[in-house]
Amino acid sequence: TIGMVGIDSSGKLAGSCTTSGLAYKMHGRVGDSPIIGAGLYVDDEVGAATATGLGETIIRICGSFLIVELMRQGRTPQEACEEAVKRLVTKSKNIQDIQAGFLAINKYGETGAFAVHPGFNFARATSSENILIDSKSHF
Ligand code: ASP
Repeated sequence: TIGMVGIDSSGKLAGSCTTSGLAYKMHGRVGDSPIIGAGLYVDDEVGAATATGLGETIIRICGSFLIVELMRQGRTPQEACEEAVKRLVTKSKNIQDIQAGFLAINKYGETGAFAVHPGFNFARATSSENILIDSKSHF
């Protein structure tokens, strides 16, 4: 999955995501990416979030919607991503075999990212930098 969240100079938020789904998936499987609230959620008054990883676990916690709602309640994007991963880990069996990660931005342009396991990289582009970041992770 490639997920993107962004903010423009007037403060408008946007997001998008695209995926090939999972390798060897069952015919007809629908992952998290096409489901608004799971793989992607944007609320101009609060922030935006997107997800990658095992869609079934992300759908179960309404991951991207959860992150935006946590930001609405005052969490930073980083705190919100960490809380979503914590919930996903709590609700998942065989967590050692499951990777999932989230990206978020709030209406102030602050960003966050967190994954279940190491190996989740993301890029952050602003008017002054364009860098690749290795996300922090739960394990
Ligand atoms: N999230 C995608 C899915 O479950 C898979 C991925 O991130 O590569 O369909």
